[in-house]
Amino acid sequence: LHAVQVATSASAIGIAVVALILGIFISRARKKSDRSLAESEERFRSIVETTSEWIWAMDLDGKLTYSNPAIETMLGYSAEELLGADIMDLMHEDDRREVIAILPGLIESKQGWSQLVTRWRHARDESYRHLESTAVAVIDEMGRVTGFRGADRDVTERIGLQRELAHQAFHDPLTGLANRTLFAERTEQALEEARRSGSLVALLFADLDNFKSVNDTLGHSAGDDLLQNVAGRLERTLRPEDTLARLGGDEFAILLEDVDGTKGVQRVAERIVESLATPFTIQGKEVHAQTSIGVAVGRAEDNSSEELLRNADVAMYVAKSAGKSQYRVFEVGMHAEVLQRAEIESDLRQALERDQFCLYYQPIIDLLTNSVVGVEALLRWDHPDRGLVAPPKFIPLLEESGLIVPVGTWILDESCRQARLLQDQFPSDPPFKMSVNLSVRELQHAGLIRSVSDALERSKLSPRSLVLEITESILMTGQQTRDNLARLRELGVRLAIDDFGTGYSSLGYLQHVPADILKIDKSFVDDVGRGTFEDSALARAIVSLGDSLGLRTVAEGIERVEQLSELLKLGCRWGQGYYFARPLEVSSLEDFLRRN
Ligand code: C2E
Ligand code: MG
Ligand code: MG
Repeated sequence: LHAVQVATSASAIGIAVVALILGIFISRARKKSDRSLAESEERFRSIVETTSEWIWAMDLDGKLTYSNPAIETMLGYSAEELLGADIMDLMHEDDRREVIAILPGLIESKQGWSQLVTRWRHARDESYRHLESTAVAVIDEMGRVTGFRGADRDVTERIGLQRELAHQAFHDPLTGLANRTLFAERTEQALEEARRSGSLVALLFADLDNFKSVNDTLGHSAGDDLLQNVAGRLERTLRPEDTLARLGGDEFAILLEDVDGTKGVQRVAERIVESLATPFTIQGKEVHAQTSIGVAVGRAEDNSSEELLRNADVAMYVAKSAGKSQYRVFEVGMHAEVLQRAEIESDLRQALERDQFCLYYQPIIDLLTNSVVGVEALLRWDHPDRGLVAPPKFIPLLEESGLIVPVGTWILDESCRQARLLQDQFPSDPPFKMSVNLSVRELQHAGLIRSVSDALERSKLSPRSLVLEITESILMTGQQTRDNLARLRELGVRLAIDDFGTGYSSLGYLQHVPADILKIDKSFVDDVGRGTFEDSALARAIVSLGDSLGLRTVAEGIERVEQLSELLKLGCRWGQGYYFARPLEVSSLEDFLRRN
């Protein structure tokens, strides 16, 4: 019963009219003598029989004593068939109970009702229609209530619309998940419940790691598809009683109630990270949607829902800067960490103009002849207070803020200039190569080709002396990237696939990338030279893969002499690592080159 309002005779003029019509119509037998009365009766009859409202009368037992034909369109019964029917049989069970509960009071006070909404079963399809009813009590000469008369309208559509609006207010239209408002409300309730029972509540805050690049490269409708698919997968990893919400953009939140300690929550977080690690197929393309997750576990006494969500958010940031596709559980110290990150980010904005970036160079060695074939340029940030900052601490921030594009242009300029100087100082045949790392954001940028060709032109470095290192994840990011790669190749520049084996590229992808060099990730090289055949298995596989595709392999991170001899046996010709040299400043590099 959505709105039960008991009508008073003064307030409901509409009811009075209905009462009048019905009174005249139904008691026609007694008043037939008057001719003008007969005429007006005829008039009223035609009104009652043609109106779209259901006009009815019932006795105190709930049996219908009159029904106009409108019931036929409304519920599919004929008026005749309903005579003597018990209205309770037609009404929805839940509503029936409530009506039975209020009837005695109405009879007692001789009142009807107004705008009372109840559900009635349709004759044909067993569905229920919502009828809004207005009625008056029928009172006999002795002043006793003998029944009710009323008029009902079908308001099913209006109710549906109301529900739809209410749903919209609390749900995300794209995924159908709870929205931020509903999520906050559920969290409050859960904390309330936890306060009573002493149980734990956990919030997970999940943010996709590369949603922006999906949107940028495949378009917004692919982005939408991805979000819907992610929502579906998340839903399947959760229990029905968990609340999953989309807070906006690529942010999802999960509320777990009554969890069994941090361990239980970690298992859920692990499951989610795992389930999203498998690529999605979006509009026929393979798309990766790894996710970083922050977890906050709250005991009811000391957490509000906002605080819990904030903590989960902070933990998510820490997870992201730890290298993405991970989860972290909130700890108090994390606030400081995130604050520091924000500071670094604001300092980074000025670093380029303040000349705080510099390049270090790590020699790349021909393992067989022990000669230097080139160097890899590695970015360093010389921070006034923090000293020399290593790339993992700031390159993700450069990428997220887009600063990597102007900084990357500077890196290309500076490294090409330096390469040319070194080639003049240390002539060799073939000339010494310069390797430069490119990030995904740079490769997605339309201006990349221009930056590279400008750098080559200004420095007069031959394109064949420039190697651009890209990671496997780049290969997933769409047409613009692949176009850029092809145009780089047209320039005559070499391409290397960096950190090979840690990404996700299938061999099929590899065949479509115009690469010349495969760099075996340090994690595989670490195992080489430990003594057993199995330890070297992955490195061996990568070298032979390189061979079969005609690619030169470079081993990264060689630290021990045993690695060197084993790599040579595997057929890997080039390498770099602390065993030969750490990344060096220009002056130290010059010393190194002079000695070698
Ligand atoms: P990367 O391109 O795979 O570079 C190799 C990393 O391994 C370098 O770390 C290097 O110092 C380190 N390394 C080399 N030999 C050894 C070894 O024997 N043992 C150990 N433990 N480490 C070794 P770095 O300089 O900290 O750079 C880290 C990553 O940051 C690079 O990985 C690259 O992905 C990125 N990066 C560095 N410079 C640039 C840049 O100029 N532009 C872009 N976009 N990314 C850069
Ligand atoms: Mg590299
Ligand atoms: Mg590498």
